[in-house]
Amino acid sequence: MAPLELELFPCRSDNFGVLLHDPATGATASIDAPEEQPILNALARRGWTLSHIFTTHHHNDHVEANLALKERFGVTIIGPVREAPRIPGIDQKVDGGDSFDFAGRRVEVILTPGHTLGHICFHLPQEKLLFAADTLFALGCGRLFESTPAQMWDSLSKLAVLPDETTVYFGHEYTLSNARFAKTVDPENAALLSRVAEIEALRAEGAFTAPTTIGLEKATNPFLRAADPAIRRHLGLETASDAEVFAEIRARKDRF
Ligand code: ZN
Ligand code: FE
Repeated sequence: MAPLELELFPCRSDNFGVLLHDPATGATASIDAPEEQPILNALARRGWTLSHIFTTHHHNDHVEANLALKERFGVTIIGPVREAPRIPGIDQKVDGGDSFDFAGRRVEVILTPGHTLGHICFHLPQEKLLFAADTLFALGCGRLFESTPAQMWDSLSKLAVLPDETTVYFGHEYTLSNARFAKTVDPENAALLSRVAEIEALRAEGAFTAPTTIGLEKATNPFLRAADPAIRRHLGLETASDAEVFAEIRARKDRF
């Protein structure tokens, strides 16, 4: 099977759009639908026709173009059953543990409550691809609008067990501000410090920081590193649970 192709592009103020395309069948999925015109431009650039939208959660900056794209292309919209009433045009409702076929590939649905209660991530195990939207960012994680820190910690833990080489696409270019915060929590992590320098250089050229990998996030993202002894020492939380350490890191980021 020819490998799937990806097209990443910026939209809205700081969202990422991403298209997933199978050259053999022509099937093309948009991961979320933040804004119609940049998606149309990306399709035109590659000469692709949209067939699917994979929706991760109900926020407007992820579903705004659902109906317009459905009207234009007749796409199939696959999204979270727990948020189905808030997903415009949803056709196929999926929950954690479900899987479906996209162009002969298995797509697994991972339920990751935290940012929203019904947020899902899409995982293609054979391709080692993860679409994490607003659950896991480069050096960050989504704000907890609808769930407790313990729920988000549990959700992030489900992503952390995926293979290190899994490529991760995420919903927003927040990486520079995440990097500045990460240094305050984990100031002696050499892997983090060198990554921050790379991120500053990328952003200075206007380049994207997506995608990332699970292995890189596990080594540098403080929100996946609540068990790390140096972070715990730094926060004075040596005896706390991992979820409690995560909660403290998230609370500090909210005030940062
Ligand atoms: Zn969101
Ligand atoms: Fe978002």
